[in-house]
Amino acid sequence: METTRILLDQNEIPTHWYNVVADLENPPAPPLGPDGQPVPPAKLAEIFPDNILEQEMSAQRWIAIPEEVRQIYALWRPAPLCRAVRLEKMLGTPAKIFYKNEGVSPAGSHKPNSAVPQAYYNHAAGIRRMTTETGAGQWGSSLAFAGQMFGIAVRIYMVKVSYQQKPFRRSLMQTWGAEVFASPTDMTEAGRKALALDPDNPGSLGLAISEAVEAAASRADTTYGLGSVLNHVLLHQTIIGLEAKKQFDKIGLYPDVILGPCGGGSSFGGIAFPFLADKAAGDRRAQHLRCVAVEPTSCPTLTKGHYAYDFGDASGYTPLMKMYTLGHDFMPPGIHAGGLRYHGDSALVSQLYHEKQIEAVAVPQLATFEAGVQFARAEGIVPAPESCHAIRAAIDEALKCKATGEPKVILFNLTGHGHFDMAAYDRYFAGQLEDYAYPAEAIAASLAHLPKVG
Ligand SMILES: *Cc1c(COP(=O)(O)O)cnc(C)c1O
Repeated sequence: METTRILLDQNEIPTHWYNVVADLENPPAPPLGPDGQPVPPAKLAEIFPDNILEQEMSAQRWIAIPEEVRQIYALWRPAPLCRAVRLEKMLGTPAKIFYKNEGVSPAGSHKPNSAVPQAYYNHAAGIRRMTTETGAGQWGSSLAFAGQMFGIAVRIYMVKVSYQQKPFRRSLMQTWGAEVFASPTDMTEAGRKALALDPDNPGSLGLAISEAVEAAASRADTTYGLGSVLNHVLLHQTIIGLEAKKQFDKIGLYPDVILGPCGGGSSFGGIAFPFLADKAAGDRRAQHLRCVAVEPTSCPTLTKGHYAYDFGDASGYTPLMKMYTLGHDFMPPGIHAGGLRYHGDSALVSQLYHEKQIEAVAVPQLATFEAGVQFARAEGIVPAPESCHAIRAAIDEALKCKATGEPKVILFNLTGHGHFDMAAYDRYFAGQLEDYAYPAEAIAASLAHLPKVG
């Protein structure tokens, strides 16, 4: 029988996360305040505990994973590394296609990999309440689950349209004990202001972030948790690539190319950075490795954005981060159903892209869903629409191998299953989706509003 699932024992869950900051060519650019000066730690301490801030600013290469976190990880980790042999046959490619299945977590995606340590560190710092925002509900459900594991009360501001359109993600969060409110609410200054202007405001991620941050800053016992973008989130997600390396060791292979969907960049960094560690350490196998971040043509942050300081949210509430950005008032089109809608990107992913250590590609929507359906029909798993971006790019790589005859080893990140996203598949089957490349003029217009720094 052919080996198609490479599994590790529970005690092989990695003991340390990998911090890519230790191997960067240049020091990372610090977050700046509205005055253009580095943000004082006391400002961030209003919404994050010290142990999280320490990780956020750390340049230490290996950071120990607390035993309590490994024990919760063990509910679903180590996640399987699978070989997609039926997809390979369907494509007629000599390439070997592997995927790391992060859809096996309780919340159905990679996001609990960071939600669990965030809840743990907050609890260790004496925090008993956390707030966050959620759009489609992936992050909210992950933090709800993690909060339940460590006895932290979680309050979630869910974008009002999603709250109305995705009732089952809301029930998932409530099942894990979280309070969920449709944002804008009348419970915060930011929410009341928005409702005064328009009582029917449908909400936005930027507004929900403002509400969650305000709610955390206004109480000493409450902090805020973010599901992507920040350095400590990418650090926690390296569990994905670290496990994958052990799994490849078991079968004596090493990837030639690694592909991951890229929204804020946490799952991409999570799978790719541990392999970049090999490259930095001079490992011969990694010298020609390519790591490719895959984004939608309707939100082409890395491939069409600028590398500049910008706000992390739409309302200009967060510190300025140096990153690839489409401008903080960039609005992805309503026709886009596949997620990955963030205007910016993680500072670490951005810097590595700028220094040409990683690559990026943008894929159109219809070909992305087509790839997800093809994968489901070959391998059985229905992928999250975000994951379909990596599948599209992996299939394209495999087809290039078919043309050249190269038996490359391809690894992609299956970041989640799509069981809560069947409405997007429905729209695809009903022919209601179309391709949309964000127009260059519109990008130029929103980039014109970048804050002036220096
Ligand atoms: C949130 C999410 C992503 C994108 O976020 P990153 O921080 O870029 O990883 C990708 N896939 C799934 C399933 C998600 O839930």
